[in-house]
Amino acid sequence: MNKGKKLYEGKAKVLYLTNDKHLLVQHFKDDATAFNNLKKSKVEGKGVLNNRISEYLLSSLAECGIKTHFIKRLNMREQLIKRADIIPIEFIVRNVASGSLTKRLGIPEGTVLEKPLLEYCLKNDNLEDPVVSKDHIFNFDWASEADIKQIDKMTLRINDILIGLFKGIGIKLIDFKIEYGKAWNKDKSENEIVLADEISPDTCRLWDDKTEKKLDKDRFRKDLGNIIEGYQEVARRLGIMPEIANVKEVNFNKQSSIKFKKK
Ligand code: C5P
Repeated sequence: MNKGKKLYEGKAKVLYLTNDKHLLVQHFKDDATAFNNLKKSKVEGKGVLNNRISEYLLSSLAECGIKTHFIKRLNMREQLIKRADIIPIEFIVRNVASGSLTKRLGIPEGTVLEKPLLEYCLKNDNLEDPVVSKDHIFNFDWASEADIKQIDKMTLRINDILIGLFKGIGIKLIDFKIEYGKAWNKDKSENEIVLADEISPDTCRLWDDKTEKKLDKDRFRKDLGNIIEGYQEVARRLGIMPEIANVKEVNFNKQSSIKFKKK
């Protein structure tokens, strides 16, 4: 498998073609963005952590029978994935009220929801990814009724699996966003729905079970301090990446040359 030309560059990832038209390389960048790109920064090591965490989570879901685009991790920043036609909807699952739900509907932050709440947002940066209804999705043909029925079922199952997985390491899964696409199955006989994109602290809200300390991108959105430490904590508790567990965010001052006094 050879990595080819860049196909698409998003805010946190780049997709490259390969010599197999059904496969892509997904590269995780260190760029962090929030509020539809209004806040931007580079967070050293974030790409490496998200690559590893997303590999772990998608592989765990695959072990439970969820079809995903993930094939294998290639190196610290890249993974081989199935090429999928992405459904232009962000699927959001909420277990506890936070973020835009609290702002939009005035539900107090931290309210435990009686059952998981599914929301659909149109993937459109210019419109700031607006919340849409199922009727919008069907009316504008963004996905079929049968596809959404299957996706809703998969999404709730993914939520159940991830809640349990995180609970086991003392983390509350507050909410998350996932994306789906259609990709060819193994023998290329059928185009099937697969979980695509990534699942990482960039796309989930993860709170420590006891202290409710935020271990996710809210640390960046809300200026809560060392972002990478939260992501590392998630990776460490998942039992992955011990090799970089001691890396700390560093701010290098501008380099200056050392001047020696002439004798
Ligand atoms: O901002 P909001 O509260 O709607 O986000 C809900 C969840 O979806 C959060 O976990 C957030 O990180 C994730 N999300 C995302 N990408 C977006 C919008 C939300 O990963 N474009």
